[in-house]
Amino acid sequence: MKQQGILFVMTGASGVGKDTIRHAALPDIENLYFSISATTRQKRPGEVHGKQYYFHSKDEFQTMLSSDGLLEHAEYVGDYYGTPTKPVKDALARGEDVLLELELVGARKVKEKMPEAIMVFIAPPTLSELERRLRSRGTDSEEKIQKRIVRAREEIKAVKEFNYVIVNELLTKAVRDFKSIIYAERVKSKYITQQDIARFLKEL
Ligand code: 5GP
Repeated sequence: MKQQGILFVMTGASGVGKDTIRHAALPDIENLYFSISATTRQKRPGEVHGKQYYFHSKDEFQTMLSSDGLLEHAEYVGDYYGTPTKPVKDALARGEDVLLELELVGARKVKEKMPEAIMVFIAPPTLSELERRLRSRGTDSEEKIQKRIVRAREEIKAVKEFNYVIVNELLTKAVRDFKSIIYAERVKSKYITQQDIARFLKEL
């Protein structure tokens, strides 16, 4: 069995359905730790500190940054988002797989620091469908929606940097694709150790 967990990074435009796919998939995937990010953005209705995000002031975020507490961070549409390092490293060291949900800048930083990370891109069927989803969510001002669309365009252009691409047109298929990626990565032969081989060879 592998000694170190696998790091999965899920990236895709805001509104593309990353959270929805994760929530639907996670009950069927044992041993996958989801990293809760820190952010300076305002809570949306129903969001809870420590559940969707750790909500912080810009000063608090700055303190985390300067004390080297973040694995990566990025500015996104006027706010900061970052991944607390320790829980991620601890989970990986315990042999647990870890899932990060990041925008493109952060995803690239993680790939640079940890090149073995498995990069998964979630694409919308079309940009106009993405815009429709962002509007129907009703959580962002018109100005923020436009900025999120601009970022989405940039992110989609980077799709080839990713190991896997899921088009979230039909949720059930997107969830199935996501689970397949995790399952397939877990059974790669590179995780077989000499001890495993010795065990396979053991005569009854
Ligand atoms: P939202 O405001 O819609 O929750 O998130 C905006 C964007 O920031 C999404 O693309 C989301 O995946 C991304 N994001 C969430 N947490 C982090 C993080 O820790 N680091 C980075 N770089 N992006 C994040």
